[in-house]
Amino acid sequence: MTDLLAPLAAIVGAANLLTTPHDIAPFITDYRGRYHGSPLAVALPASSDEVAALVRFCAAHRIAIVPQGGNTSTCGAATPDGSGRQLVIALRRLNRIRAVDAANQTITVEAGCTLAAVQAAAASAGLLFPLSLASEGSCQIGGNLSTNAGGLAVLRFGTMRELTLGLEVVLPDGQLLDALTALRKDTSGLDVKQLFIGAEGQLGLITAATLKLFPQPTAHATALLGVASADEAIATLNALQAAFGDRLTSFEMMSEVCQQLVAKYQPGALPFQAPWALLVELSDSGDNTSLQERLLQWLAARGLGDGVLAQNDSERTRLWQLREQMSELQKRDGPSIKHDIGVPTSAIPAFLDACGTALQAAFPGVRIVAFGHAGDGNLHYNISHTRPGNAGLFADEDAVNAIVYEQVHRLRGTLAAEHGVGQLKGHWLQRYKDPAALAVMRAVKQALDPQRIMNPGKWL
Ligand SMILES: Cc1cc2nc3c(=O)[nH]c(=O)nc-3n(C[C@H](O)[C@H](O)[C@H](O)COP(=O)(O)OP(=O)(O)OC[C@H]3O[C@@H](n4cnc5c(N)ncnc54)[C@H](O)[C@@H]3O)c2cc1C
Repeated sequence: MTDLLAPLAAIVGAANLLTTPHDIAPFITDYRGRYHGSPLAVALPASSDEVAALVRFCAAHRIAIVPQGGNTSTCGAATPDGSGRQLVIALRRLNRIRAVDAANQTITVEAGCTLAAVQAAAASAGLLFPLSLASEGSCQIGGNLSTNAGGLAVLRFGTMRELTLGLEVVLPDGQLLDALTALRKDTSGLDVKQLFIGAEGQLGLITAATLKLFPQPTAHATALLGVASADEAIATLNALQAAFGDRLTSFEMMSEVCQQLVAKYQPGALPFQAPWALLVELSDSGDNTSLQERLLQWLAARGLGDGVLAQNDSERTRLWQLREQMSELQKRDGPSIKHDIGVPTSAIPAFLDACGTALQAAFPGVRIVAFGHAGDGNLHYNISHTRPGNAGLFADEDAVNAIVYEQVHRLRGTLAAEHGVGQLKGHWLQRYKDPAALAVMRAVKQALDPQRIMNPGKWL
């Protein structure tokens, strides 16, 4: 395989083809440290033409390609296998903001731009790119597209799929597909860009995207509320929707166990503890004071128990930190079996009830850390302590997953609401996805990538 390195280096420049153990180390292990790979090399192209040349070379020599963005996937989607025959193509040098069209409210960016850089470019044009994730300083637009990322403002603005107008993609044979339009309406045939959103790099390599921008909201009202049950949480969601319409931008839920984790690692940070804590945010044009007053009046009229309304930007940031640090706090507290499930919002209480009961019956004393984007029906539902002292946790992974995914399936939910499938959930997808839908996906894969060089070993 070493005779392949010189032509690859000729495409990207010797300094941008990484081969030493030290240089490739950041690219070969996933964020959670569960998957480790051993690639042929890591290529760092700086233009779409370089990406296309790399892919053409790989297609000619049947070298498998693993596209990689910020490597924040929580399910091993961007990690190469151990064969030493896969080329990681990491997009971080492909990171120009190509254009901001303020009048059309669009931005065209290269795939290796971090999400934070795209948010900042939009803000400097006085506009908003609303996708927001706790990993936004590291994750990249190409990764966000390939996982159809969601995050904190889906309730109002939708997922990456809804935020995307056009894409530029290098196909598995090295052709450049130019679907980089900035159109909000287009009935000229099938919308081919949709194939690549959520495909986890298995159908092509995204090199650029045109994304929707929005007016910057000038007012925010952010509150942390305590409620007694999941039923009350969903009733509060519906009441907020009725009162505030699409001003309701985020609706997050954190269980009491999550709050105990905050109390353990940051004593005093939480103003109260309740069976469920809700982080609610409204956004609008106009001024902060009147939006906050409206929320305050609504809360008073509803007579909710515990609650804190952020009075200024730093209090708002502090409330959001409580929610956004959940993954990190959990990581500090030891390993867990993670799920990123989605059910209809109305079914969240039934899911929590049935799944919690089934898990406790199978693993008495099990710890369930449930939190997430409840307004989208999406919960991160993480399990630990299946045995005393959290020993041998992953030996129970299949049994835990079988319980959780069966409950999700019963409620017509999804086992991958926003993090994708990757290496972690491929076999579960085969079990629970509709067979006809799987057949369509396989047919598309066969049509676009008959040599199966794009991100093999994942779920397609
Ligand atoms: C602390 C933390 C919080 C998170 N919170 C959220 C959240 O709220 N919402 C959410 O949706 N996700 C969240 N995630 C998951 C993760 O950040 C997202 O899935 C993100 O979209 C991945 O982007 P990335 O650039 O890191 O992609 P990577 O991890 O590098 O890759 C992900 C997948 O995309 C493919 N890919 C990457 N770039 C390209 C490209 N240019 N062309 C084709 N395929 C490509 C890879 O092959 C892989 O299959 C979180 C992760 C962490 C660690």
